[in-house]
Amino acid sequence: MADFKSLLRELPAVDRLLREPPLEDKMRHLPRRLVLQAAQETIASYRRRISDYSSLDTPPESPVQINLSPAALAEEAALLAEKKAGLNLKSVINATGIIIHTNLGRVALAPSVVDAVTAAAANYNNLEFSLDTGERSSRQEHLENLLCELSGAEAAVVVNNNAAAVFLALNTLASGREAIVSRGQLVEIGGSFRIPEIMAASGARLVEIGTTNKTYLRDYEAVVNENTAAFLKVHTSNYHMIGFTAEVETEELAALAERCRLPLVEDLGSGVFLDLAEYGLPPEPRVQDSIAAGADLVTFSGDKMLGGPQAGIIVGRRDLVSAIRKNQLARTLRIDKLTVAALEATLRLYFDRARVLEEIPVWSMLTVSPEELRRRAGKLAEKLSLLVEDGRVEVIEGISRVGGGALPTAELPTFLVALTPPKGDSPPAVVSRLRREDPPVILRLQQDRLLFDPRTVREEEEEALIGAVGRACGKHLDG
Ligand SMILES: *Cc1c(COP(=O)(O)O)cnc(C)c1O
Repeated sequence: MADFKSLLRELPAVDRLLREPPLEDKMRHLPRRLVLQAAQETIASYRRRISDYSSLDTPPESPVQINLSPAALAEEAALLAEKKAGLNLKSVINATGIIIHTNLGRVALAPSVVDAVTAAAANYNNLEFSLDTGERSSRQEHLENLLCELSGAEAAVVVNNNAAAVFLALNTLASGREAIVSRGQLVEIGGSFRIPEIMAASGARLVEIGTTNKTYLRDYEAVVNENTAAFLKVHTSNYHMIGFTAEVETEELAALAERCRLPLVEDLGSGVFLDLAEYGLPPEPRVQDSIAAGADLVTFSGDKMLGGPQAGIIVGRRDLVSAIRKNQLARTLRIDKLTVAALEATLRLYFDRARVLEEIPVWSMLTVSPEELRRRAGKLAEKLSLLVEDGRVEVIEGISRVGGGALPTAELPTFLVALTPPKGDSPPAVVSRLRREDPPVILRLQQDRLLFDPRTVREEEEEALIGAVGRACGKHLDG
């Protein structure tokens, strides 16, 4: 084995590396500190590699093969410096077929919504200023009327996200008192939103009733007392029970709430304004139906099925909404001007259903026809097969998912492009190279095949996707 100490001595020093042309060039264009860091980290990583090899009994690869020339290290450090200087949060291509993908930023906004956000970001605006009276106004005013028209509610307020909406509603109405929830609705969403925990944090005391699979109106009636402050109904958006189940409908529970003079808060999760059944999808409760059924407050997310920005929307009775607005905590959970701009522009699209389906990506992805998906998969497969010489590319039938904890049982039929990498290249290695591409491509790996779902890839992204696959899959079998 080559002498460990002599290899370490061979490692170039930082200032030697910085004199190499690729790093000299980066020094001129990028912050000095970043380039220096990149050089130091590159040398450190080689030092680790050398010591790792030297600690092995039988090195799998002779350490002598490591190229320690300043030119080689500088090349690598220059790439690292470039990466450090770039934005860490970047656009990726979602080829997973999961429409609401929380890890990938949930949803993309409609183009007109993006324009509204850009304008709000670039300029001063009338966020809290009335152009009619010249006086101070509320940022909520840009949204409240639209939300009331769409939902039929009297009043509305928007906060940071739906978790905040539920928290704030409970904190305002039931802090120090009791809120009644069915055991079948004590859900956990996305790993950190759990109804019992949110309730505890809000100061409300959870009173669980019924059983996991069956809860009746009499279960609610039995526990109402002078300490009861609210009924909470939670849409079990991310799981479905089958078999013998019973749940109390919003209308029935609202009638009981009214008799008891207590508010009914309904957390819808996704919250939709359109009727999903019309598009062959499993039903999802609509916001306007819950309001019409008598729910006093309804909460839902801005960035799930609505297809807008992250936000928690609360619609309902004026007196309750106004109490929520006055809660000191509302200020800590308030939305910023970019959210106001994005949400207003998104909501305006809902007054014209054709525009929702055409412009809001969630809805065009949900409702795109199988024939169109087959056509796009075919086109993509044709182009990819030209790039992947020894691999196999075919179009197969598959399933896309709504995601985001919405419609967990919905299986949307789709056509996938299935790519088997050339022999000698490992599929997980290709997946990881695609993840490091520019733009990164995120996809599914099933057995030894890479699956691209055209449903979540917009047509304007196709060229970039093909380029990335060409680079990741084409000729570099060296990993
Ligand atoms: C998603 C969801 C939440 C949390 O909403 P966020 O906007 O992600 O905070 C709360 N309740 C239900 C029922 C949900 O589906």
